[in-house]
Amino acid sequence: MKTKKTLQISIKSITETGKDLSLDLGKEWFDRWREEDQGLEFSQGAMRGTVSLAKHGHDILVRGHLQGLLDLACGRCLEPYAASLETAFDLLLVPAPAGAAPEDEELSAADLDLDFYSGETVDLEAIIREQIILMVPLKPLCQETCHGLCPLCGANLNRETCSCQVEKSDSPFAQLAKLKEK
Ligand SMILES: [Zn+2]
Ligand SMILES: [Zn+2]
Repeated sequence: MKTKKTLQISIKSITETGKDLSLDLGKEWFDRWREEDQGLEFSQGAMRGTVSLAKHGHDILVRGHLQGLLDLACGRCLEPYAASLETAFDLLLVPAPAGAAPEDEELSAADLDLDFYSGETVDLEAIIREQIILMVPLKPLCQETCHGLCPLCGANLNRETCSCQVEKSDSPFAQLAKLKEK
């Protein structure tokens, strides 16, 4: 198994004016991630974005923007679909504390996410992965109006109308029973 880690940014390479990167994460990148993490909720993806890193003393500010597609499974009809997603993030990396985690008043006021780094590199790979996971909706829907599966026969109601569905929607009793379920 090859474990080629990409997106490891040397802190030395971040100059005073900052460092800008453009990302183009395709099949290969997602395949490698999947190899390492079987529990991913998406099968494939394609993401593009930009990340800028800037040094502020010992802290490193990471600002990024990601946009692209993730192959998700619809929470209602279970069909795979390509979800179009976008995110922007600000992350402040501070040196990992040697002992207890320090409280920093200056930072707590800011609406920045805080994270730690240690050593001479920033693990941008881990940061990007986390941001992508955060983009995955809790209840993915292939479309807002997805009709889901028939609970009785399992037919995909986006594609077909089964006979049990017609009865259910026509019968006021069935509708009442549905309301009581909620
Ligand atoms: Zn659906
Ligand atoms: Zn049915």
